[in-house]
Amino acid sequence: MDLNGKVAIVTGGNNGIGLAIASKLLNYGASVAVVDLNDDAFDKGIKNCKFYKADVSDFNKANEIVENIINDFSAVDILVNNAGINRDGVIWKMSEEQWDSVLDVNLKGCFNYSRMVSPLLKAQAGGKIVNISSINGMRGKFGQANYSASKAGIIALTKTMAKELGRYGVNVNAVAPGLIESEMTKKLPKDALSLALAETALNKFGNAEDVANLVAFLCSDLSAHITGEVIKIDGGQYI
Ligand code: NAP
Repeated sequence: MDLNGKVAIVTGGNNGIGLAIASKLLNYGASVAVVDLNDDAFDKGIKNCKFYKADVSDFNKANEIVENIINDFSAVDILVNNAGINRDGVIWKMSEEQWDSVLDVNLKGCFNYSRMVSPLLKAQAGGKIVNISSINGMRGKFGQANYSASKAGIIALTKTMAKELGRYGVNVNAVAPGLIESEMTKKLPKDALSLALAETALNKFGNAEDVANLVAFLCSDLSAHITGEVIKIDGGQYI
């Protein structure tokens, strides 16, 4: 895969799956702009990689950040909407704050950066947007009404943007991971992890690298005729 000369934005790229995606795109030759809340794990020594501090749920900040990225890198070719959170609870106990925070970061964050980047991709007649959804956005999940709804929203947003931007040579796809070992899943109770493992055909959890490989493929010319797709990467957790 060759991403030389491409400029990619990866949201939530300071940790977990986003960090693996940013590293993978760099390895394939892209320049990478990481947008995240914190830069504690961000390696400031990497050439062609720059950190931008922002909460993805802030619409005006998204505009400012994308302008800064254009000033620094002169272009944007790839957007990976990866930043996400979970604030789990059953529906009868879920607070407004739990609902709003998850929808704001996961779904509005994806909208914000797609909204700012899509005019650029449209004008240059080419580009890739890859959104990180979840198998729980396809099937629902006990205790995750907010998270599952946000990830289902990302799927509808992906399909709509694929229809709107396809004629301008822009591919828009979503990736739907199953349980992937990360900071997010470290916090899950033991019985939830056992349940997830029991339903996974390959009988193992995925890792961030697995997801990054698929995302890199979707960011490359090898996936030129794929758009509007939601590709599960879950070891057969949801078949
Ligand atoms: P993670 O380790 O918690 O990493 C998420 C990253 O997003 C962190 O760097 C986090 O920053 C950042 N972030 C959170 N809120 C943000 C905001 N408002 N603005 C900007 N950045 C923000 O989680 P992960 O497991 O790698 O998850 C990455 C994506 O994959 C998420 O969209 C998640 O829903 C999705 N996913 C994960 C799994 C899984 O099993 N891990 C499965 C399906 C889908 P801080 O650490 O500083 O808060």
